[in-house]
Amino acid sequence: MIDLRSDTVTRPTDAMRQAMARAEVGDDVYGEDPTVLALEERVADLLGHEAALFCPTGSMANVLAVRAVVKPGEEVLCEASAHIVRAELGAHGAYSGITSRTWIHPRGQVDLPTVRSILAPDMGPFFVRTAAISVENTHNFAGGTVLPLADLRDLRELATGAGVAVHMDGARLWNAHVATGTALSEYGAIADVMAVCLSKGLGAPVGSLVVGSADVIAEARVWRKRMGGGMRQVGILAAAGLHALEHHVERLAEDHEHARLLAEACGVDPAGVDTNIVAVPRGDAAEVVARAREAGVLVSAVGPAVVRLVTHLGVGRADVERAAGVLAAL
Ligand SMILES: *Cc1c(COP(=O)(O)O)cnc(C)c1O
Repeated sequence: MIDLRSDTVTRPTDAMRQAMARAEVGDDVYGEDPTVLALEERVADLLGHEAALFCPTGSMANVLAVRAVVKPGEEVLCEASAHIVRAELGAHGAYSGITSRTWIHPRGQVDLPTVRSILAPDMGPFFVRTAAISVENTHNFAGGTVLPLADLRDLRELATGAGVAVHMDGARLWNAHVATGTALSEYGAIADVMAVCLSKGLGAPVGSLVVGSADVIAEARVWRKRMGGGMRQVGILAAAGLHALEHHVERLAEDHEHARLLAEACGVDPAGVDTNIVAVPRGDAAEVVARAREAGVLVSAVGPAVVRLVTHLGVGRADVERAAGVLAAL
């Protein structure tokens, strides 16, 4: 089976497993795991922020990040198919008492005029207060699209002027960085608080981080423990993340090339494929998924009329070419 359902399906490489086996560990709830501390410092540095916090999942990292800037009863604005409102099972409402309003963009982009028109940071005691705007870069359900730095800077300016925070869901920020050559710290400068994942294209088995100011991270550490996310000798997992940052970032360019190849086979314009995700419009998405499976290729339906293909370090060139043949025939 060639598995193109997600870049979460990767298994740790032998070299990664060796790095994990060698990792120095300690009790991270006591702040004594040197490998976790090294990972947190490395990621904070890369993004140009003061501090970071290692979390088991990206969903937890997003919950901690958003609640750091939005209080119960306040709202976050985001694009309608953002992971935080579509794929986190209502976590921000269920745990943090946060509501949301959304704008729609088929490529998951910032629609600045609409954001400006729905922004309500201070409309008196009858309206929900907008406390933050959230952006997703790259945008998962829009097909791995990159948010251009210029648009993000305009959004930052709008947010600063209105006194609201910016949250960036950077689960695949590494892909945006490799696709555009934009420094991670330039993306980091846009946001007050961010979440990044090691378990997607970077190929670590688990792990995400919240990134922000020292104060935000100190409070996020308390909330992580409160939610049951305080972990002990997890340096063995952080070591996988450090290894991934060292060896699996630049290679994402291969995944991007593979995605364009698959797009072409599916009749999708490869020029619209920014990174490692291809969204293929098909009215019979479930049927396509079933028939691809019969032919040895796993893909997923992310809506009734969208098939999603995701490339990653577990599928090499030969696999991609074979999958392209199968998908072209379908
Ligand atoms: C995968 C993903 C997350 C986090 O997901 P987990 O499965 O909880 O690690 C967050 N945002 C986006 C855009 C994602 O694709």
